Amino acid sequence: MKPPPFGYRAPATVTEALDALAAEPSGKVLAGGQSLIPLLNMRLAAPAELVDINRVAELDTLHVRDEGVRAGALARLARVERSAEAAAVQPLLGQALRHVAHPVIRNRGTVVGSLAHADPAAELPAVLAVLGGTVEAASARGRRTIRAAEFFRGPMEPALEPGELAVSAFFPASPPRTGTAFTETARRHGDYALAGVAAVVTLDEDLRVSAARAGYLGIAATPLVLDLTGAAGPHGDWRAAAAHVRERIDPETDIHAGAGYRRHLTGVLTERAFKSAAAEALRRAG
Ligand code: FAD
Repeated sequence: MKPPPFGYRAPATVTEALDALAAEPSGKVLAGGQSLIPLLNMRLAAPAELVDINRVAELDTLHVRDEGVRAGALARLARVERSAEAAAVQPLLGQALRHVAHPVIRNRGTVVGSLAHADPAAELPAVLAVLGGTVEAASARGRRTIRAAEFFRGPMEPALEPGELAVSAFFPASPPRTGTAFTETARRHGDYALAGVAAVVTLDEDLRVSAARAGYLGIAATPLVLDLTGAAGPHGDWRAAAAHVRERIDPETDIHAGAGYRRHLTGVLTERAFKSAAAEALRRAG
């Protein structure tokens, strides 16, 4: 299908992009286009104008510091996936990115675009949520930082106001003796997952579990974060944690899977991911 008619602007700077968005508040930002273009072609979106940020060089950044990884709005998924520096500071990013779509889509799609799309079945929103990351938004009115817990309001509903551009996303580094793992189940590799989990385990100096957090995708309208520290206990009873998760969640039935299957699957994935994250935490502690 063909998209409906739209105006097109291709600014060269952030200031120009913000001016364009302020002039046409019902305009949409075009980043990698891997979600927006299909939506236009299926006529599920009909913005008056596209503000294409692909020429805004100042957004094409990936800053890796001890405190975390900051991806500018033009950092492609593949660039972050392949960054050894980013993996050293926050390995969960690369672990999750391998599951996002296919390499050709990751070559073009952006980290920030994936967050701004706010699909509850997407991997990166769950990663940002479980890590307690943030999104930096800018508009002609100024800048603000939005915490992940407030950023995902509903399916495809990011907390971005008309005229706002998400300029970067920040994924905090994990504390010492922390291990991470990501696992999901999709009908075919590269498809959106039926359910998935990002697991983060931190050990104390005596190698007991001091924190266990899970970020889920595919089982709620927004990424779901559960603190499993109490359920797993100090020695990491991941089977008990998985049983706790099955009781806590309320997944829906859709054309891809029933609620009962999703609940069972989420438990299996939880146990699997936490075993792997705990082993990684132990390795890092030693
Ligand atoms: P775009 O498509 O350009 O934009 C997406 C939305 O975000 C639009 O509403 C746009 O206006 C907005 N937006 C983008 N950037 C900004 C910004 N800086 N500020 C404000 N708003 C912004 N995704 C997954 O997570 N997991 C999958 O398994 C997966 N499988 C896929 C399979 C296929 C076959 C395809 C075509 C896509 C798949 N996707 C999947 C979706 C895709 O990978 C991401 O949603 C996409 O890459 C988002 O980034 P983008 O830069 O392409 O965003």
